[in-house]
Amino acid sequence: MKTSIIGYPRIGSLRELKFASEKYFRGEISESELQNTAKQLRLANLTIQHQNGLDFIPSGDFSFYDGMLDTAVLLNAVPDRYRNLGLSELDTYFAMARGYQGEKGDVKTFAMKKWFNTNYHYMVPEIDDNTEIKLSGNQPFELFQEALKNGVKTKPVIIGAYTFLKLARYTGNKTAADFVDAVISAYSQIFTKFSELGAEWIQIDEPCLVMDMTSVDKELFVKLYKKILSGKYSVKVLLQTYFGDVRDCYSEICSLDFDGIGLDFVEGKKNLALVKESGFPTEKTLFAGVVNGKNIWKNHYCNTLTTIAELQKYAKNIVINTSCSLLHVPYTLKNETKLSESYQKHLAYAEEKLLELAELKKIITSETPIETEEYQKNTRLFSEPRSSANLDVQNRVANLTDADFIRLPAFAEREIIQKERFQLPLFPTTTIGSFPQTADVRAARASFRKGEISEKQYDTYMKEKISECVALQENIGLDVLVHGEFERNDMVEYFGECLNGYIFTEKAWVQSYGTRCVKPPVVWGDISRAKPMTVKWSVYAQSLTDKPMKGMLTGPVTILNWSFPREDISLKESAYQIALAIREEVLDLEANGINIIQVDEAALREKLPLRKSDWKTDYLDWAIPAFRLVHSGVKPETQIHTHMCYSEFSDIIREIDDMDADVITFEASRSDLTILDVLKENNFRTEVGPGVYDIHSPRIPAVEEIKNALHKMLDRIPAEKLWVNPDCGLKTRGNAETVPSLENLVHAAKELRNENL
Ligand code: GLN
Ligand code: ZN
Repeated sequence: MKTSIIGYPRIGSLRELKFASEKYFRGEISESELQNTAKQLRLANLTIQHQNGLDFIPSGDFSFYDGMLDTAVLLNAVPDRYRNLGLSELDTYFAMARGYQGEKGDVKTFAMKKWFNTNYHYMVPEIDDNTEIKLSGNQPFELFQEALKNGVKTKPVIIGAYTFLKLARYTGNKTAADFVDAVISAYSQIFTKFSELGAEWIQIDEPCLVMDMTSVDKELFVKLYKKILSGKYSVKVLLQTYFGDVRDCYSEICSLDFDGIGLDFVEGKKNLALVKESGFPTEKTLFAGVVNGKNIWKNHYCNTLTTIAELQKYAKNIVINTSCSLLHVPYTLKNETKLSESYQKHLAYAEEKLLELAELKKIITSETPIETEEYQKNTRLFSEPRSSANLDVQNRVANLTDADFIRLPAFAEREIIQKERFQLPLFPTTTIGSFPQTADVRAARASFRKGEISEKQYDTYMKEKISECVALQENIGLDVLVHGEFERNDMVEYFGECLNGYIFTEKAWVQSYGTRCVKPPVVWGDISRAKPMTVKWSVYAQSLTDKPMKGMLTGPVTILNWSFPREDISLKESAYQIALAIREEVLDLEANGINIIQVDEAALREKLPLRKSDWKTDYLDWAIPAFRLVHSGVKPETQIHTHMCYSEFSDIIREIDDMDADVITFEASRSDLTILDVLKENNFRTEVGPGVYDIHSPRIPAVEEIKNALHKMLDRIPAEKLWVNPDCGLKTRGNAETVPSLENLVHAAKELRNENL
């Protein structure tokens, strides 16, 4: 029995690659200094994996920015606009990743998308009619040889032909089918080259196989690999899947000439049944993903052993594997100097997962597995009560009834009551919540955290910022105001810190994209509200104005989606616990005179299951109710807003309406406004504020431009339901562009009112 991992984090245990890259971008270090840092990090990874006795050590999982981008370069898919800049190889690569603006030209970046159901984002390869796909780079081979020189024969890892073709964007008239032959020959050359270099195994990542597949998709997959695998290579080929099960193509996978098949038994809920029902080809090796590559909890050996024992009935050769690349977990618990041992003993980051693989191997190959010390210790750990149980919360969730999820009276009646109450003009103007987080704001939060300024000083400072912000909005003439969210570092972390049941890590950074990392909070126990979290700030802000002040909260689904969730209770249970805590805050705000409350569900769409058939049962059936639970207790005259970051929700439009908010704002300025047609077709009931300008760019939208957008909206949305707002929070912007942009927005709304008198 051997052990393997699919990939390892690469940003550095203290984010060394991030800092070095950013220095390089600023021109503070040379390319060779950056290359040197990268090399040290790769060596460190190699050493740690080798020391932990890992049998299949990956190479090629390193990247300066993103693996998909590396694959595009390897396959020569570099659009001319980047090539023509005449930059060095590395700078051309970074131009695709980050755009380039300088003496050699001005180009935007590749598009970026969420990597399946993770919070990692990949660069979308761009293929135009002139693209000539061929093997052109050397990186995977060099990385293999670099490791070899250091005494380790690694398992090279590359993104597979099918996933590459499926995820690429075709900007001309050609489609994936036109590139099949070229891709086949490029991959054949890659396999040949690795055979010559003496590699024993190569890992081909094909996560697209866990998505819903049409018969055309299956044909494409089979065609690609029939041809690629018809070559004679000495290297063995592992087809690696992850993030789900392969229900649509299991038989095809088994009949193709792969030497190994990697299946995810953590998230791939049907994989075990597939193996049991259809068996597993005896001549192949099963790489069994049993150690969770996405979460930070220790593996429960007893459960894992049961799965492996089941699999051994069908597969002769089994390699113990992680469920996906460890890219999605932090580096090592060694950097957590403040987290107490009582928590740490339950956690496993990437390095600790290497140890788990080694222990599992030892246990499984022992004569008496359950008597091994490692097994016993693990079993004891899992039999201890772990979570900080809060029976009150558990009971409240258990005793929820249907009525708790229903706000009364129904929407139409509330709409009339609220119009009467707020007397807002037609096309009311508002913002999404945050105002520019300038350096002084961040500095004030940091000095408060470090104890350099007192709570009183901090409060005074925040109140000054709030009153400036309120005055600014009044001057501009906005109708519904916000306090500005200056007290928040992050829309999830802020609430996590105020809630019981969360724990915080010091260095548990996970790469989100490129040099950007996030540090998700950890749901440890039952969640409850320790104290009011936002009331003080909202009430103060409201005291400064006669206009309505929106209370600003993050919704339960978004809080959960951007945390490391518990594994000992369901996501639904956790979501309901968080919902009850946010509900208390909502009611508290209402009781303190805040009459409009926005509950952001920025990440609601993000965790939709990869397969459409699982959307309702596995997700929407609890995510939508969780949101309803938050606001079902407010008075009819209190107005509930929500906000979502992407407008890609055409296919769940009914469910969004079913959240039963009074108003929803969302990002629309960058999309083609098709969402508006969908709203119309579905008779969308909730009032809507599709963003009228893009806050992700420093551009100032002209009045005419905003009016044009609004006219398009008015073609599809009844005037009395249309709100006017930017498309997201303003915290990443500066005041220089924010003020004129909002002035133009208000101006446009006023002109539109005149036209509609
Ligand atoms: N209210 C938050 C803000 O304005 C929403 C952020 C978001 O949608 N990502 O910053
Ligand atoms: Zn947003």
